[in-house]
Amino acid sequence: MLLEVNQLARHYPVKSASLLLGKKKVLKAVDGVSFTLNAGQTLGLVGESGCGKSTTAKMVLGLLAPSQGDIRFEGDEVPHRRTAQWRALRKRMQMIYQDPLAVLDRRLPIIDQVTEPLVVQGNGSRYENHRKAAASLKAVGLLPHMFDRYPHELSGGQRQRVVLARALVLEPSLLVCDEPISALDVSIQAQVINLLEDLQQERKVAILFISHDLKVVRHICDEVAVMYLGRIVEQGNTQEVFGKPAHPYTQALVSAIPVIRQEGESSRRIILQGEPPNPINVPAGCAFHPRCQHAMPRCRQERPELVQLDAQRKVACHLHRADVVAGQTTAAGE
Ligand code: SF4
Repeated sequence: MLLEVNQLARHYPVKSASLLLGKKKVLKAVDGVSFTLNAGQTLGLVGESGCGKSTTAKMVLGLLAPSQGDIRFEGDEVPHRRTAQWRALRKRMQMIYQDPLAVLDRRLPIIDQVTEPLVVQGNGSRYENHRKAAASLKAVGLLPHMFDRYPHELSGGQRQRVVLARALVLEPSLLVCDEPISALDVSIQAQVINLLEDLQQERKVAILFISHDLKVVRHICDEVAVMYLGRIVEQGNTQEVFGKPAHPYTQALVSAIPVIRQEGESSRRIILQGEPPNPINVPAGCAFHPRCQHAMPRCRQERPELVQLDAQRKVACHLHRADVVAGQTTAAGE
């Protein structure tokens, strides 16, 4: 097991306007998230904006301290941030951000930017670092005559390749990709995705892939975890989850994936009512109940836990509790 995340949570106390009257409020950006990731595997984290995907990624990388829970990398607890052990481990976990221009230095040629992580790590001679950086740029498909160019002289796709080369030059075991293609033109997105897949197969890097583009997640991820208001509501094999979504929220997300229909074929799109609730005032019971077309009285009182649905999948929904399923079977048989 490369990465093990157990009951990870990040809570923020929120100052209330009526401090004397009200209870102290807590914003639960992430609230008890668990998953595992093996070498060479890709796990997708999906959900609407604000569901806690990026906060989870930042905690995995040690950029944010968890309020609760633990993270293990190759069986060992990830050390505290800013310690020498954490810095040593950090080079094995790299991040790819959404906007390459925001992370690249516009004043430096790209070869220097890819060499930089090696210099910071303090390994190798100047010649050796330059050689490794050039090899990394070549591996992501950039040609030697581009190496002395500045970021603004490259296209969006080429810039994202530079970011990828800079991450890969340290030979990481884990890549955390936070919306890595959403700032790119559609024509370039496929190139970057194919490149990620090729590099992963070659190097057996594990990828935590955060995206709201479910088509891409379905294409690239082995496993997927669907998040809603800081918690995982469905998790499992990507083809199972997308092929037969069990949670009503996943069903709505999957129904929104564009597909080419035959003439006369009707759309079965599920339109979610309303916006996600305020994370400071998460509804009691199942947090999804105000938007769920299957909500039952129990859903307003009791929060469903994430439980095994079958060999490939877990789901947090009262519809799949054994007693409800048994009740439906009986009703159907009457
Ligand atoms: S627990 Fe109830 S409200 Fe929540 S998703 Fe399932 S059916 Fe809907």
